[in-house]
Amino acid sequence: MTTALVYDPIFMEHRVPKGHPERPQRMEMSIGYLKALKWLERPGLVQLAPRAASIDELATVHERDYIQEIAELSQQAAETEATSGLPTSLQLGTDTYVSSKTYEAALKAAGAPLTALDAIMNGEIKNAYCLVRPPGHHAVAEAGFGFCIFNNVAVAARYALDHYGLERVMIIDYDVHHGNGTQETFYEDPRVLYFSVHQAPFFPGTGESDERGEGAGEGTTINIPLPAGSGYEIYEPIFRQVLAPAADRFNPQLILVSAGYDAHWKEAEGHTGVQPGMRISTAGFAKLNEIIIKLADNLCDGKLIMVQEGGYDLDVVASGVATSLNQLLGGDEAVDKYGQAPDIEYQINTDVIISELRRIHQLTGYRMRNQARPDREKLLNEVKGPVITKTPASEPTEADSDSCCQNEE
Ligand SMILES: [Zn+2]
Repeated sequence: MTTALVYDPIFMEHRVPKGHPERPQRMEMSIGYLKALKWLERPGLVQLAPRAASIDELATVHERDYIQEIAELSQQAAETEATSGLPTSLQLGTDTYVSSKTYEAALKAAGAPLTALDAIMNGEIKNAYCLVRPPGHHAVAEAGFGFCIFNNVAVAARYALDHYGLERVMIIDYDVHHGNGTQETFYEDPRVLYFSVHQAPFFPGTGESDERGEGAGEGTTINIPLPAGSGYEIYEPIFRQVLAPAADRFNPQLILVSAGYDAHWKEAEGHTGVQPGMRISTAGFAKLNEIIIKLADNLCDGKLIMVQEGGYDLDVVASGVATSLNQLLGGDEAVDKYGQAPDIEYQINTDVIISELRRIHQLTGYRMRNQARPDREKLLNEVKGPVITKTPASEPTEADSDSCCQNEE
């Protein structure tokens, strides 16, 4: 089976002001890595050009007025550019900008996972990596936010439900920031299990562990807020002991991943500027991907679409993209330029965090369906101890019984 890389050069045309971390070079470097590794020509890899998401498809997540606003701002930027002759980025929110090609790029960023899903559902490919920008997981119904214009992953989940009639879609978000927009979209929708592991307290401030969904959607939002400094040694047991059983219980028909690499240890020195940040290495991301890929294989015939979110150190993003794509293709090596994270001076009590999360999400005692059931016979024997075949002295005889009765009389 094949893997698709869904990418379009238009993603480099979404322009931001100088010094903005979410810059076109993130795509350039990622494609550069793939070319240098000669991985674009790998057997089993197909490159797909994304289609634009339709207005109706976007409107399953976003308000039509907001979609129109982006179209108009892009037009306005194009006109300003034509008169001034200078590249123009108009401010949409505090840190989010619209340039002349933003609308076109954002339509295709949202369309990329739809293209991937069509190819998966037609049986043309097994899984896909959507290398897109602008990213999506902070965008809410009526606004862009945190570098995001349209919520690419949310639009894809809605498309899977509406167009293909799927009943259960899981979104795994390991970007260092909480995907507030994705959470909000599906907060009352039991058909989408949103699982986010993120640094807290941190931007955007949402994603506490008691935010579990509401109404019919209660229990299908799982937030894992982790303290700064968390590394693979805490992510890994969380993936095995919280993510895996939660996924197994939900039994998704498709898994979407909001793949942001900004929990990489090197990121703390760059974009976030906050010390310390998280401490995952690219090899660590590879191990987490391995768990996700196994879940997809066991639960939904490998149907898995990874969609690019954050990650701002150019080498971190490019290594993450190359590593994830390699794994979707069945490889297991990580492209890890920076190596392991430096140690931290304090300890994080992983056991306490995990048992609390398992309690909140009612996973205490949950046994995964695909795990081998324990050998009851063997366990009983272990409890009983050695079997004594002959105990003549203690066996009741007829005489004993009689005497017993006699005594009672
Ligand atoms: Zn992020």
